[in-house]
Amino acid sequence: MHAIAVGRDDRTPRVVERDPPTPASGEALVRVLRVGVDGTDHAVIAGDHGGFPEGADELVLGHEAVGVVVDANDTDLDEGAVVAPTVRRPPAGGPNPYFDRGEPDMAPPGGYVERGIDGADGYMAEYVTSPAADLVELPDDLADYGFLVEPVSVVEKAFELAAAARSSFRWEPDTALVLGNGPLGLLAVAALTDGATTAGHYDTVYCLGQRDPDHPSVRVLDRFDAAYVDARDTPLAAFADAYEPADLVVEATGHPPHAVESLDALAPNGVAALLGVPEGTHEESVPLAHVHRDAVLSNKAVVGSVNSNARHFRAAADALADMDTDFLDALTTVAPAFDDPAAAFREDETTIKTAVELATY
Ligand code: NDP
Ligand code: ZN
Repeated sequence: MHAIAVGRDDRTPRVVERDPPTPASGEALVRVLRVGVDGTDHAVIAGDHGGFPEGADELVLGHEAVGVVVDANDTDLDEGAVVAPTVRRPPAGGPNPYFDRGEPDMAPPGGYVERGIDGADGYMAEYVTSPAADLVELPDDLADYGFLVEPVSVVEKAFELAAAARSSFRWEPDTALVLGNGPLGLLAVAALTDGATTAGHYDTVYCLGQRDPDHPSVRVLDRFDAAYVDARDTPLAAFADAYEPADLVVEATGHPPHAVESLDALAPNGVAALLGVPEGTHEESVPLAHVHRDAVLSNKAVVGSVNSNARHFRAAADALADMDTDFLDALTTVAPAFDDPAAAFREDETTIKTAVELATY
């Protein structure tokens, strides 16, 4: 079968030939339909993040997948079921308590491998196997967009952690601010406005970006009841005064100052969920006394959030099912898998999110 991989020496994504995998006991065989591409894949390809499986010179790419069960093997899955696989798997030493509890997303670095990212082959292959417990069943009509369940699950986990940090009192948020209009930011806006989300209902949703209004990633916001804020006119530090303080901030820029400036954008009792993964270093002086005093005197919270587990995948499937398919179409550019595999990873001005299509449903 064909797969798309990078090598240690040649980091251009290319087609490689592999034997189709055989499911072990407890695993199912899945025919892959579509795999999403995100910034993590670019970092993996560049060699800035993740790594190869132990002893291997190639890594099959892709961690955001949707597929169809073609051999349920000895599992309870139905053949023909549409599924999305989770990303983390136990490390070489075997499962640890985080996996035993179904919370691999909370395992510390080193406590897991990640398929398509770090230490385990990914999903850009015609067929993959996975433990049934790591395959989340989706409604059939998510066969086209189910590759978005993984990124939406990352957003759902952030909502969950944010709400948990406010669960000791009656928190009635109605204003949300999403930082970033990349795929993750836009999916957060969609979940906050359209989706049956863990976050609940928000009357007002803002999205901060730094692109012109005619850029596709800004134009797509017209579909939502969400106001675009251009950070070149109103940087995050000026947001609360120019607009209004937000009860929830979801950071999806990876711009390091946003980790601190989010606090200033919050209303009293608000919470900021940080998702961005900054690259490189960033030094800046921060008025620490102000930040500290404000966080304490206004009961503010900041949570960091990475990855997601099967529960977040199920919440994401519900949220995705509620999203407008016109939005999902506008978000997605479908690229054939094997003609020119590197093409799906080339960034251009017109594409927001690429889905590599390995098979049709
Ligand atoms: P993108 O890089 O596509 O999106 C980032 C967005 O933030 C872009 O629209 C960018 O605008 C915008 N941005 C950057 N700096 C600023 C700024 N100073 N002011 C306003 N807007 C800004 O990434 P994704 O949407 O895929 O992911 C978002 C972040 O989340 C990334 O850092 C990614 O690594 C991380 N991530 C985290 C995960 C987790 O589990 N925590 C999972 C997946 C991703 P422009 O393009 O114009 O520069
Ligand atoms: Zn991803």
